[in-house]
Amino acid sequence: MKKFAELEDFASAEAEMLRIRHHLHAHPELSFQEENTAAFVSGKLEQWGYEVTRNVGGHGVVGRLREGDGNRSIAIRADMDALPITEVTESEYASTAPGIMHACGHDGHTTMLLGAAEYLARTRNFSGTLNLIFQPAEEVGPNGGAKAMIADGLFERFPCDAIFGLHNHPGAPAGTILMRSGPLMAAADTVNITLHGKGGHAARPHLCIDPIVVGSSIVMALQTVVSRSVDSTETAVVTVGTFNGGTATNVIAQSASLSLSVRTFSPEVRALIKDRIYMIVETQAESWGATVDIEYDSGHPIVFNAPEETAFATEVATELTGEGSVPECALIPGSEDFSHYLDHKPGCFIRLGNGEDSAALHTPNYDFNDRSLTTGAALWARLAERYLS
Ligand code: ZN
Repeated sequence: MKKFAELEDFASAEAEMLRIRHHLHAHPELSFQEENTAAFVSGKLEQWGYEVTRNVGGHGVVGRLREGDGNRSIAIRADMDALPITEVTESEYASTAPGIMHACGHDGHTTMLLGAAEYLARTRNFSGTLNLIFQPAEEVGPNGGAKAMIADGLFERFPCDAIFGLHNHPGAPAGTILMRSGPLMAAADTVNITLHGKGGHAARPHLCIDPIVVGSSIVMALQTVVSRSVDSTETAVVTVGTFNGGTATNVIAQSASLSLSVRTFSPEVRALIKDRIYMIVETQAESWGATVDIEYDSGHPIVFNAPEETAFATEVATELTGEGSVPECALIPGSEDFSHYLDHKPGCFIRLGNGEDSAALHTPNYDFNDRSLTTGAALWARLAERYLS
């Protein structure tokens, strides 16, 4: 039997991965503007012998490599975009683009997949088709890069049997691979509510319908959605993020508005909460004589890890880092656009420790942990080799 990739196989590649990671970090690009990053990635893939397709769903890049006569096919995805945040780290490779930084570690994700790409092209210890997906615009909500690549025919043009992706995970030790079967990250829906009352003089409330009072009772009633309606063994979040209304102390406003963020981990709870929000908001408003407009926007779906692909990825991770070294990841109430791929293909989204002392994602002093690079690259290489063995 041929030997599959080990952590040690990436020791010699670490210096080059560091150079790539620091280059990407110093030159971050915002969502939908990843032109130079995509060109950099394409150049590397071509140099290593990949068949490269550019501009898939915007600046998306797919590198394909076929080897042997195996008919299995795997896709692995990394994201490439940065955020509109001003970096405050004083590292020598800090962002050179004012107001833009890799504050979510997508520079690290891209580098690890490139590290695996170089190894797999050099060693060619697999039989089948490898599709490496470099995705733009992960950070912009539901109408971002994953959906754009899928709409541009990703799975028809580059068919795959399963898809894998990963995200760094602040709080867990660098290089620790965390797995969870089933739901991992939340669906994130947004609700905009506009209440129409009847404005007037603050001294004569009996002649008005005060939308601020109506809105207040709605805010309180919404607190019962999770506490009273969701199964106590499930979990969800309903947050009223904004509540705006009124212009002066002596005026009762004509209207007020609320906006909500809803996080759920199952389609059933997601549907239940939507029903409860409509019911509560409409009936509360009606009871006060107010009218209401509700705009319910579905965000990213749930990141749902397929049991079979997750068991496989867990096996590969355990072979790499040792028995008992792959903890179960707790549910993450954040969302991620990898979920759109998982709506089409079975697969698994993996988390990789970014250090216990890591700054939080999307903060100005965050940095991807370079100590995770070899683990991430080795994971992708071995996962591809094993899947296509
Ligand atoms: Zn991210």
